[in-house]
Amino acid sequence: MNKLWMTINGANAEGDLSPISVLNPADETMIYEAPQASIEQLDLAVEGAVSAFKTWSALTQTERDVYINKIADTIEKNAEQLANIIVNEQGKPLQLAHMEVGGAVAWTRYATNIDIPVEVYQETDDKRIEGRRKPIGVVGSITPWNWPLMIAIWHIIPALRMGNTVISKPSELTPINTLRLGELLQDVLPAGVFSVVCGDGKIGQAMSEHKKINKIVFTGSTLSGQRIMKSAANNLKRLTLELGGNDAAVILPDANLSKLAEAIFNAAFINMGQTCAAIKRIYVHQSQHDQLCELLAEIADKHIVGSGLSADTTFGPVQNKNQLEKVISLVENAKSHDATIYAGGNRLDIPGYFYPPTIVGNASHGMRIVDEEQFGPVVPIIRYTDVDDAIQQANSLEVGLGGSIWGDLDSAMQLASKLDCGTVWINGHAEILPHVPFGGCKMSGFGVEFGLEGLLENSLLQVTNINKS
Ligand code: NAD
Repeated sequence: MNKLWMTINGANAEGDLSPISVLNPADETMIYEAPQASIEQLDLAVEGAVSAFKTWSALTQTERDVYINKIADTIEKNAEQLANIIVNEQGKPLQLAHMEVGGAVAWTRYATNIDIPVEVYQETDDKRIEGRRKPIGVVGSITPWNWPLMIAIWHIIPALRMGNTVISKPSELTPINTLRLGELLQDVLPAGVFSVVCGDGKIGQAMSEHKKINKIVFTGSTLSGQRIMKSAANNLKRLTLELGGNDAAVILPDANLSKLAEAIFNAAFINMGQTCAAIKRIYVHQSQHDQLCELLAEIADKHIVGSGLSADTTFGPVQNKNQLEKVISLVENAKSHDATIYAGGNRLDIPGYFYPPTIVGNASHGMRIVDEEQFGPVVPIIRYTDVDDAIQQANSLEVGLGGSIWGDLDSAMQLASKLDCGTVWINGHAEILPHVPFGGCKMSGFGVEFGLEGLLENSLLQVTNINKS
Protein backbone atom coordinates (compact mmCIF):
# COMPACT_ATOMS: atom_id res chain seq x y z
CA MET A 1 0.00 0.00 0.00
CA ASN A 2 1.27 3.53 -0.81
CA LYS A 3 2.48 5.65 2.05
CA LEU A 4 -0.32 7.56 3.77
CA TRP A 5 -0.08 10.63 5.93
CA MET A 6 -2.09 12.29 8.62
CA THR A 7 -3.70 15.55 7.59
CA ILE A 8 -2.85 18.46 9.87
CA ASN A 9 -3.81 21.99 8.92
CA GLY A 10 -4.33 21.05 5.28
CA ALA A 11 -0.97 19.31 4.79
CA ASN A 12 0.54 15.82 5.03
CA ALA A 13 2.11 15.01 8.39
CA GLU A 14 4.31 12.12 9.51
CA GLY A 15 3.55 10.77 12.98
CA ASP A 16 5.91 11.92 15.75
CA LEU A 17 5.42 8.65 17.67
CA SER A 18 6.29 5.12 16.58
CA PRO A 19 3.85 3.80 13.95
CA ILE A 20 0.91 1.52 14.71
CA SER A 21 0.73 -1.87 12.96
CA VAL A 22 -2.54 -2.47 11.15
CA LEU A 23 -3.43 -6.13 10.55
CA ASN A 24 -5.57 -7.75 7.87
CA PRO A 25 -8.15 -9.77 9.85
CA ALA A 26 -8.48 -12.27 7.00
CA ASP A 27 -4.90 -13.54 7.33
CA GLU A 28 -3.43 -11.79 10.40
CA THR A 29 -0.60 -10.24 8.36
CA MET A 30 0.53 -6.67 8.89
CA ILE A 31 -0.72 -4.55 6.02
CA TYR A 32 0.28 -1.11 7.09
CA GLU A 33 2.23 0.91 9.60
CA ALA A 34 0.02 3.88 10.37
CA PRO A 35 1.48 7.17 11.59
CA GLN A 36 0.86 8.00 15.26
CA ALA A 37 0.36 11.58 16.44
CA SER A 38 1.96 13.17 19.48
CA ILE A 39 0.06 15.55 21.76
CA GLU A 40 2.03 18.40 20.16
CA GLN A 41 0.67 17.34 16.76
CA LEU A 42 -2.85 17.28 18.17
CA ASP A 43 -2.23 20.83 19.43
CA LEU A 44 -1.13 21.88 15.93
CA ALA A 45 -4.28 20.37 14.43
CA VAL A 46 -6.41 22.19 17.02
CA GLU A 47 -4.66 25.52 16.37
CA GLY A 48 -5.30 25.05 12.64
CA ALA A 49 -8.95 24.21 13.31
CA VAL A 50 -9.41 27.25 15.59
CA SER A 51 -7.95 29.53 12.96
CA ALA A 52 -9.94 27.98 10.05
CA PHE A 53 -13.15 28.28 12.11
CA LYS A 54 -13.18 32.06 11.63
CA THR A 55 -13.72 31.89 7.87
CA TRP A 56 -15.51 28.51 7.67
CA SER A 57 -18.15 29.52 10.21
CA ALA A 58 -18.74 32.80 8.37
CA LEU A 59 -19.79 31.03 5.15
CA THR A 60 -23.49 30.67 4.35
CA GLN A 61 -25.07 27.20 4.39
CA THR A 62 -25.28 27.37 0.60
CA GLU A 63 -21.57 28.09 0.33
CA ARG A 64 -20.71 25.23 2.68
CA ASP A 65 -23.04 22.92 0.74
CA VAL A 66 -20.89 23.44 -2.37
CA TYR A 67 -17.91 22.05 -0.43
CA ILE A 68 -19.95 19.22 1.04
CA ASN A 69 -21.19 18.11 -2.35
CA LYS A 70 -17.56 18.17 -3.54
CA ILE A 71 -16.69 15.87 -0.63
CA ALA A 72 -19.40 13.46 -1.84
CA ASP A 73 -18.06 13.66 -5.41
CA THR A 74 -14.53 12.91 -4.16
CA ILE A 75 -15.62 9.87 -2.16
CA GLU A 76 -17.62 8.65 -5.16
CA LYS A 77 -14.66 9.04 -7.50
CA ASN A 78 -12.43 7.07 -5.13
CA ALA A 79 -15.04 4.47 -4.18
CA GLU A 80 -13.10 1.51 -5.55
CA GLN A 81 -9.97 2.34 -3.60
CA LEU A 82 -11.81 3.17 -0.36
CA ALA A 83 -13.87 -0.05 -0.53
CA ASN A 84 -10.71 -2.12 -1.01
CA ILE A 85 -9.04 -0.41 1.94
CA ILE A 86 -12.09 -1.19 4.09
CA VAL A 87 -11.99 -4.90 3.15
CA ASN A 88 -8.27 -5.11 3.86
CA GLU A 89 -8.35 -3.48 7.27
CA GLN A 90 -11.89 -4.22 8.47
CA GLY A 91 -12.63 -7.57 6.85
CA LYS A 92 -16.18 -7.19 5.50
CA PRO A 93 -16.97 -8.67 2.07
CA LEU A 94 -16.23 -6.29 -0.82
CA GLN A 95 -19.88 -5.85 -1.75
CA LEU A 96 -20.67 -4.70 1.79
CA ALA A 97 -17.63 -2.39 1.73
CA HIS A 98 -19.06 -0.83 -1.44
CA MET A 99 -22.35 -0.36 0.42
CA GLU A 100 -20.41 1.36 3.21
CA VAL A 101 -18.81 3.77 0.73
CA GLY A 102 -22.21 4.31 -0.96
CA GLY A 103 -23.70 5.04 2.48
CA ALA A 104 -20.94 7.58 3.16
CA VAL A 105 -21.83 9.38 -0.09
CA ALA A 106 -25.58 9.26 0.61
CA TRP A 107 -25.20 10.64 4.15
CA THR A 108 -22.89 13.38 2.90
CA ARG A 109 -25.28 14.53 0.21
CA TYR A 110 -28.32 14.27 2.46
CA ALA A 111 -26.91 16.85 4.90
CA THR A 112 -27.11 19.51 2.18
CA ASN A 113 -30.88 19.03 1.84
CA ILE A 114 -31.82 20.16 5.32
CA ASP A 115 -32.89 23.74 5.98
CA ILE A 116 -32.01 25.03 9.42
CA PRO A 117 -35.13 26.79 10.70
CA VAL A 118 -35.18 30.09 12.60
CA GLU A 119 -37.57 29.50 15.48
CA VAL A 120 -39.90 32.38 16.32
CA TYR A 121 -41.03 32.28 19.96
CA GLN A 122 -42.92 35.56 19.91
CA GLU A 123 -43.99 37.92 17.13
CA THR A 124 -46.06 40.86 18.38
CA ASP A 125 -46.29 44.58 17.50
CA ASP A 126 -43.57 45.52 19.96
CA LYS A 127 -41.44 42.39 20.14
CA ARG A 128 -39.89 39.53 18.22
CA ILE A 129 -38.02 36.73 19.94
CA GLU A 130 -36.27 34.21 17.78
CA GLY A 131 -33.80 31.34 18.07
CA ARG A 132 -30.93 30.92 15.63
CA ARG A 133 -28.25 28.29 15.40
CA LYS A 134 -24.54 29.07 15.69
CA PRO A 135 -21.63 26.66 15.22
CA ILE A 136 -19.93 25.37 18.35
CA GLY A 137 -16.27 25.66 17.31
CA VAL A 138 -13.82 22.76 16.96
CA VAL A 139 -15.46 19.33 16.98
CA GLY A 140 -13.43 16.19 17.75
CA SER A 141 -14.64 12.94 16.20
CA ILE A 142 -13.54 9.58 17.64
CA THR A 143 -14.62 6.48 15.73
CA PRO A 144 -14.66 2.66 16.15
CA TRP A 145 -13.53 -0.13 13.80
CA ASN A 146 -16.78 -1.71 12.62
CA TRP A 147 -18.01 0.74 9.92
CA PRO A 148 -14.92 2.95 9.89
CA LEU A 149 -15.63 5.17 6.89
CA MET A 150 -19.38 5.51 7.30
CA ILE A 151 -19.23 6.36 11.00
CA ALA A 152 -16.47 8.91 10.34
CA ILE A 153 -18.72 10.56 7.76
CA TRP A 154 -21.68 10.47 10.20
CA HIS A 155 -19.56 12.55 12.56
CA ILE A 156 -17.69 14.83 10.18
CA ILE A 157 -20.34 16.01 7.73
CA PRO A 158 -23.04 17.35 10.10
CA ALA A 159 -20.33 19.15 12.10
CA LEU A 160 -18.89 20.78 8.97
CA ARG A 161 -22.33 21.59 7.60
CA MET A 162 -23.18 23.57 10.74
CA GLY A 163 -19.99 25.64 10.41
CA ASN A 164 -17.67 23.82 12.79
CA THR A 165 -14.15 22.65 11.98
CA VAL A 166 -13.33 19.00 12.65
CA ILE A 167 -10.49 16.82 13.90
CA SER A 168 -11.05 13.13 13.26
CA LYS A 169 -9.36 10.28 15.12
CA PRO A 170 -10.06 6.86 13.63
CA SER A 171 -9.76 3.60 15.55
CA GLU A 172 -6.16 2.44 15.73
CA LEU A 173 -7.42 -0.89 14.33
CA THR A 174 -8.83 0.61 11.11
CA PRO A 175 -7.18 3.99 10.49
CA ILE A 176 -6.26 3.62 6.82
CA ASN A 177 -9.54 4.68 5.17
CA THR A 178 -9.80 7.84 7.31
CA LEU A 179 -6.14 8.71 6.58
CA ARG A 180 -6.93 8.41 2.88
CA LEU A 181 -10.09 10.49 3.30
CA GLY A 182 -8.00 13.22 4.95
CA GLU A 183 -5.54 13.20 2.04
CA LEU A 184 -8.35 13.34 -0.52
CA LEU A 185 -10.07 16.23 1.23
CA GLN A 186 -6.88 18.33 1.29
CA ASP A 187 -7.80 19.22 -2.30
CA VAL A 188 -11.41 20.02 -1.40
CA LEU A 189 -11.50 21.92 1.90
CA PRO A 190 -9.63 25.02 3.09
CA ALA A 191 -6.62 24.22 5.32
CA GLY A 192 -7.52 23.48 8.93
CA VAL A 193 -11.22 22.81 8.30
CA PHE A 194 -10.65 19.05 8.51
CA SER A 195 -7.67 17.28 10.10
CA VAL A 196 -6.93 13.61 10.79
CA VAL A 197 -4.77 12.50 13.71
CA CYS A 198 -4.02 8.86 14.40
CA GLY A 199 -3.43 6.95 17.57
CA ASP A 200 -5.03 4.86 20.28
CA GLY A 201 -7.14 5.78 23.31
CA LYS A 202 -4.41 8.10 24.66
CA ILE A 203 -4.82 10.60 21.83
CA GLY A 204 -8.61 10.18 22.10
CA GLN A 205 -8.31 10.99 25.79
CA ALA A 206 -6.19 14.06 25.00
CA MET A 207 -8.89 15.21 22.57
CA SER A 208 -11.59 14.87 25.20
CA GLU A 209 -9.46 16.85 27.68
CA HIS A 210 -8.44 19.55 25.18
CA LYS A 211 -9.57 23.03 26.23
CA LYS A 212 -9.93 24.27 22.63
CA ILE A 213 -12.05 21.37 21.39
CA ASN A 214 -15.64 22.38 22.08
CA LYS A 215 -17.52 19.17 21.29
CA ILE A 216 -16.75 15.47 21.01
CA VAL A 217 -18.86 13.12 18.94
CA PHE A 218 -17.96 9.59 19.91
CA THR A 219 -19.02 6.14 18.74
CA GLY A 220 -17.61 3.20 20.64
CA SER A 221 -17.83 1.30 23.90
CA THR A 222 -19.70 2.50 26.97
CA LEU A 223 -16.48 2.39 29.02
CA SER A 224 -14.66 4.76 26.66
CA GLY A 225 -17.78 6.96 26.53
CA GLN A 226 -17.75 7.28 30.32
CA ARG A 227 -14.07 8.25 30.28
CA ILE A 228 -14.73 10.87 27.61
CA MET A 229 -17.62 12.28 29.62
CA LYS A 230 -15.41 12.69 32.69
CA SER A 231 -12.66 14.45 30.70
CA ALA A 232 -15.16 16.64 28.87
CA ALA A 233 -16.02 18.32 32.17
CA ASN A 234 -12.74 20.24 31.76
CA ASN A 235 -14.33 22.85 29.51
CA LEU A 236 -17.94 21.63 29.54
CA LYS A 237 -17.65 20.13 26.07
CA ARG A 238 -20.83 19.27 24.26
CA LEU A 239 -21.11 15.52 23.72
CA THR A 240 -22.87 13.10 21.45
CA LEU A 241 -22.22 9.57 22.72
CA GLU A 242 -23.26 6.58 20.61
CA LEU A 243 -22.24 3.66 22.79
CA GLY A 244 -22.67 -0.07 23.13
CA GLY A 245 -26.01 -1.85 22.98
CA ASN A 246 -27.46 -5.31 23.40
CA ASP A 247 -30.56 -5.03 21.22
CA ALA A 248 -33.47 -7.35 21.92
CA ALA A 249 -35.87 -8.67 19.28
CA VAL A 250 -39.17 -9.96 20.67
CA ILE A 251 -40.97 -12.38 18.35
CA LEU A 252 -44.70 -12.43 19.16
CA PRO A 253 -46.52 -15.77 19.56
CA ASP A 254 -47.81 -17.18 16.26
CA ALA A 255 -45.47 -14.99 14.18
CA ASN A 256 -44.95 -16.35 10.67
CA LEU A 257 -41.37 -17.53 11.21
CA SER A 258 -40.82 -18.87 7.70
CA LYS A 259 -41.61 -15.41 6.38
CA LEU A 260 -39.54 -13.51 8.96
CA ALA A 261 -36.48 -15.72 9.50
CA GLU A 262 -34.33 -14.27 6.71
CA ALA A 263 -34.90 -10.69 7.89
CA ILE A 264 -34.24 -11.63 11.52
CA PHE A 265 -31.01 -13.40 10.52
CA ASN A 266 -29.80 -10.46 8.43
CA ALA A 267 -30.52 -7.97 11.21
CA ALA A 268 -28.51 -10.08 13.68
CA PHE A 269 -25.53 -10.82 11.44
CA ILE A 270 -25.11 -7.60 9.46
CA ASN A 271 -21.35 -6.94 9.21
CA MET A 272 -20.70 -10.28 10.96
CA GLY A 273 -22.77 -9.05 13.91
CA GLN A 274 -20.35 -6.16 14.48
CA THR A 275 -23.00 -3.48 14.24
CA CYS A 276 -24.13 -1.39 17.19
CA ALA A 277 -27.82 -1.76 16.39
CA ALA A 278 -27.79 -5.40 15.24
CA ILE A 279 -30.11 -7.84 17.00
CA LYS A 280 -28.07 -9.25 19.89
CA ARG A 281 -30.78 -11.24 21.77
CA ILE A 282 -33.92 -12.94 20.40
CA TYR A 283 -36.93 -13.70 22.62
CA VAL A 284 -39.34 -16.24 21.12
CA HIS A 285 -42.45 -17.99 22.48
CA GLN A 286 -41.49 -21.42 23.79
CA SER A 287 -43.81 -23.12 21.28
CA GLN A 288 -41.77 -21.66 18.40
CA HIS A 289 -38.26 -21.84 19.86
CA ASP A 290 -37.05 -24.94 18.03
CA GLN A 291 -38.55 -23.89 14.71
CA LEU A 292 -36.88 -20.47 14.84
CA CYS A 293 -33.50 -21.95 15.78
CA GLU A 294 -33.71 -24.46 12.91
CA LEU A 295 -34.72 -21.82 10.37
CA LEU A 296 -31.89 -19.50 11.44
CA ALA A 297 -29.39 -22.39 11.44
CA GLU A 298 -30.41 -23.32 7.90
CA ILE A 299 -29.62 -19.77 6.73
CA ALA A 300 -26.36 -19.68 8.73
CA ASP A 301 -25.11 -22.92 7.20
CA LYS A 302 -25.53 -21.57 3.67
CA HIS A 303 -23.04 -18.74 4.25
CA ILE A 304 -19.59 -18.97 2.71
CA VAL A 305 -17.06 -17.75 5.27
CA GLY A 306 -13.79 -16.37 3.90
CA SER A 307 -11.72 -13.41 2.87
CA GLY A 308 -13.80 -10.39 1.92
CA LEU A 309 -11.89 -10.14 -1.35
CA SER A 310 -12.96 -13.61 -2.63
CA ALA A 311 -15.86 -13.31 -5.02
CA ASP A 312 -17.89 -16.13 -3.43
CA THR A 313 -17.48 -15.00 0.21
CA THR A 314 -20.70 -13.93 1.93
CA PHE A 315 -19.35 -13.80 5.50
CA GLY A 316 -16.00 -12.24 6.46
CA PRO A 317 -13.78 -12.48 9.55
CA VAL A 318 -14.21 -10.84 12.93
CA GLN A 319 -12.21 -7.59 12.81
CA ASN A 320 -9.73 -8.22 15.62
CA LYS A 321 -8.33 -10.82 17.96
CA ASN A 322 -9.82 -9.37 21.18
CA GLN A 323 -13.30 -9.36 19.69
CA LEU A 324 -12.86 -12.91 18.39
CA GLU A 325 -11.69 -14.08 21.81
CA LYS A 326 -14.71 -12.43 23.41
CA VAL A 327 -17.06 -14.24 21.02
CA ILE A 328 -15.30 -17.56 21.70
CA SER A 329 -15.49 -17.14 25.47
CA LEU A 330 -19.19 -16.16 25.39
CA VAL A 331 -20.10 -19.18 23.25
CA GLU A 332 -18.03 -21.52 25.48
CA ASN A 333 -19.76 -20.09 28.53
CA ALA A 334 -23.16 -20.74 26.90
CA LYS A 335 -22.13 -24.32 26.07
CA SER A 336 -21.11 -24.88 29.70
CA HIS A 337 -24.61 -23.74 30.75
CA ASP A 338 -26.27 -26.32 28.46
CA ALA A 339 -27.29 -23.98 25.66
CA THR A 340 -27.82 -25.74 22.31
CA ILE A 341 -25.58 -24.84 19.36
CA TYR A 342 -27.76 -25.08 16.23
CA ALA A 343 -25.11 -23.75 13.82
CA GLY A 344 -21.44 -22.78 14.01
CA GLY A 345 -19.99 -22.70 17.51
CA ASN A 346 -16.26 -23.05 16.80
CA ARG A 347 -13.51 -20.88 15.33
CA LEU A 348 -12.43 -22.05 11.87
CA ASP A 349 -9.06 -23.78 11.92
CA ILE A 350 -7.44 -21.52 9.31
CA PRO A 351 -5.39 -18.30 9.57
CA GLY A 352 -7.55 -15.21 10.05
CA TYR A 353 -10.16 -14.34 12.66
CA PHE A 354 -12.90 -16.50 11.13
CA TYR A 355 -15.90 -17.54 13.20
CA PRO A 356 -18.99 -18.84 11.38
CA PRO A 357 -22.50 -17.48 11.99
CA THR A 358 -23.54 -19.17 15.22
CA ILE A 359 -27.04 -19.83 16.54
CA VAL A 360 -27.27 -20.50 20.28
CA GLY A 361 -30.65 -21.92 21.35
CA ASN A 362 -32.00 -22.49 24.87
CA ALA A 363 -30.14 -19.42 26.04
CA SER A 364 -31.19 -17.52 29.15
CA HIS A 365 -30.28 -14.59 31.36
CA GLY A 366 -27.36 -15.51 33.57
CA MET A 367 -25.41 -16.70 30.51
CA ARG A 368 -22.80 -14.18 29.41
CA ILE A 369 -23.97 -14.49 25.78
CA VAL A 370 -27.28 -12.89 26.83
CA ASP A 371 -26.12 -10.45 29.50
CA GLU A 372 -23.11 -9.03 27.61
CA GLU A 373 -22.91 -7.46 24.18
CA GLN A 374 -21.24 -10.06 21.92
CA PHE A 375 -20.65 -7.65 18.99
CA GLY A 376 -19.83 -10.60 16.73
CA PRO A 377 -21.24 -13.48 14.64
CA VAL A 378 -23.43 -15.17 17.23
CA VAL A 379 -26.96 -14.67 18.46
CA PRO A 380 -28.68 -16.25 21.50
CA ILE A 381 -32.34 -17.34 21.38
CA ILE A 382 -34.29 -17.17 24.65
CA ARG A 383 -37.66 -18.90 25.30
CA TYR A 384 -40.52 -17.04 26.93
CA THR A 385 -44.02 -18.04 28.00
CA ASP A 386 -45.55 -14.60 28.50
CA VAL A 387 -44.98 -11.58 26.25
CA ASP A 388 -45.00 -9.03 29.09
CA ASP A 389 -42.33 -11.08 30.78
CA ALA A 390 -40.29 -11.09 27.55
CA ILE A 391 -40.52 -7.29 27.36
CA GLN A 392 -39.42 -7.06 30.98
CA GLN A 393 -36.42 -9.29 30.29
CA ALA A 394 -35.59 -7.26 27.18
CA ASN A 395 -35.55 -4.12 29.37
CA SER A 396 -33.60 -5.70 32.20
CA LEU A 397 -30.11 -4.76 30.97
CA GLU A 398 -28.36 -1.43 31.51
CA VAL A 399 -28.18 -0.60 27.78
CA GLY A 400 -30.92 0.67 25.44
CA LEU A 401 -29.88 1.36 21.87
CA GLY A 402 -32.45 -0.38 19.64
CA GLY A 403 -35.14 -3.02 19.98
CA SER A 404 -37.77 -4.69 17.83
CA ILE A 405 -41.07 -6.52 17.89
CA TRP A 406 -41.96 -9.00 15.17
CA GLY A 407 -45.37 -10.47 14.26
CA ASP A 408 -48.93 -9.17 14.27
CA LEU A 409 -48.82 -5.42 13.57
CA ASP A 410 -51.56 -4.30 15.99
CA SER A 411 -50.13 -6.27 18.91
CA ALA A 412 -46.62 -5.06 18.07
CA MET A 413 -47.79 -1.42 17.98
CA GLN A 414 -49.32 -1.78 21.43
CA LEU A 415 -46.06 -3.07 22.87
CA ALA A 416 -43.60 -0.85 21.02
CA SER A 417 -43.44 1.99 23.55
CA LYS A 418 -42.81 -0.48 26.37
CA LEU A 419 -39.30 -1.25 25.09
CA ASP A 420 -36.65 0.97 26.74
CA CYS A 421 -34.50 1.97 23.76
CA GLY A 422 -33.78 4.78 21.31
CA THR A 423 -35.39 3.13 18.26
CA VAL A 424 -38.09 0.45 18.16
CA TRP A 425 -38.51 -1.31 14.84
CA ILE A 426 -41.59 -3.37 14.02
CA ASN A 427 -41.01 -6.34 11.72
CA GLY A 428 -37.50 -5.08 11.08
CA HIS A 429 -34.35 -4.05 12.93
CA ALA A 430 -31.09 -2.14 12.37
CA GLU A 431 -32.45 0.01 9.55
CA ILE A 432 -30.60 3.31 9.88
CA LEU A 433 -31.44 6.18 7.53
CA PRO A 434 -29.94 9.63 6.88
CA HIS A 435 -33.25 11.44 7.50
CA VAL A 436 -34.21 9.63 10.72
CA PRO A 437 -32.64 10.55 14.10
CA PHE A 438 -30.76 7.68 15.73
CA GLY A 439 -29.39 7.40 19.27
CA GLY A 440 -29.58 5.41 22.47
CA CYS A 441 -30.82 5.72 26.02
CA LYS A 442 -29.59 4.38 29.37
CA MET A 443 -25.92 3.28 29.11
CA SER A 444 -26.09 3.32 25.30
CA GLY A 445 -25.43 7.04 25.34
CA PHE A 446 -27.26 10.25 24.62
CA GLY A 447 -27.82 12.67 21.80
CA VAL A 448 -28.80 11.71 18.28
CA GLU A 449 -27.25 11.64 14.85
CA PHE A 450 -28.99 12.15 11.47
CA GLY A 451 -31.94 14.22 10.31
CA LEU A 452 -32.52 17.79 11.47
CA GLU A 453 -32.01 16.84 15.14
CA GLY A 454 -28.62 15.35 14.34
CA LEU A 455 -27.52 18.54 12.59
CA LEU A 456 -28.76 20.74 15.42
CA GLU A 457 -26.58 18.80 17.89
CA ASN A 458 -23.65 20.37 16.12
CA SER A 459 -24.85 23.87 16.93
CA LEU A 460 -25.62 26.20 19.82
CA LEU A 461 -28.98 27.88 20.21
CA GLN A 462 -28.79 31.64 20.46
CA VAL A 463 -31.93 33.54 21.38
CA THR A 464 -32.36 37.07 20.05
CA ASN A 465 -34.90 39.15 22.00
CA ILE A 466 -35.82 42.20 19.89
CA ASN A 467 -37.73 45.17 21.30
CA LYS A 468 -39.04 46.81 18.15
CA SER A 469 -39.47 50.30 19.58
P1 NAD B 1 -13.68 1.50 21.90
O1 NAD B 1 -14.42 2.36 22.85
O2 NAD B 1 -12.65 0.59 22.44
O3 NAD B 1 -12.90 2.40 20.83
C1 NAD B 1 -13.58 3.38 20.05
C2 NAD B 1 -12.65 4.56 19.82
O4 NAD B 1 -12.40 5.19 21.07
C3 NAD B 1 -11.30 4.21 19.23
O5 NAD B 1 -10.95 5.20 18.30
C4 NAD B 1 -10.37 4.27 20.45
O6 NAD B 1 -9.04 4.56 20.14
C5 NAD B 1 -11.00 5.40 21.24
N1 NAD B 1 -10.74 5.40 22.68
C6 NAD B 1 -10.44 4.34 23.49
N2 NAD B 1 -10.30 4.79 24.77
C7 NAD B 1 -10.53 6.13 24.75
C8 NAD B 1 -10.55 7.15 25.75
N3 NAD B 1 -10.29 6.90 27.04
N4 NAD B 1 -10.85 8.41 25.39
C9 NAD B 1 -11.12 8.71 24.11
N5 NAD B 1 -11.10 7.79 23.11
C10 NAD B 1 -10.82 6.52 23.43
O7 NAD B 1 -14.77 0.74 21.06
P2 NAD B 1 -14.54 -0.26 19.83
O8 NAD B 1 -14.04 -1.54 20.39
O9 NAD B 1 -13.77 0.41 18.76
O10 NAD B 1 -16.03 -0.42 19.28
C11 NAD B 1 -16.91 -1.40 19.75
C12 NAD B 1 -17.98 -0.77 20.61
O11 NAD B 1 -18.55 0.35 19.95
C13 NAD B 1 -19.15 -1.71 20.86
O12 NAD B 1 -19.50 -1.65 22.23
C14 NAD B 1 -20.28 -1.15 20.03
O13 NAD B 1 -21.56 -1.39 20.49
C15 NAD B 1 -19.97 0.30 20.02
N6 NAD B 1 -20.55 0.93 18.83
C16 NAD B 1 -21.64 1.74 19.01
C17 NAD B 1 -22.25 2.33 17.93
C18 NAD B 1 -23.44 3.23 18.11
O14 NAD B 1 -23.81 3.94 17.18
N7 NAD B 1 -24.06 3.26 19.26
C19 NAD B 1 -21.73 2.11 16.65
C20 NAD B 1 -20.62 1.29 16.49
C21 NAD B 1 -20.02 0.72 17.61
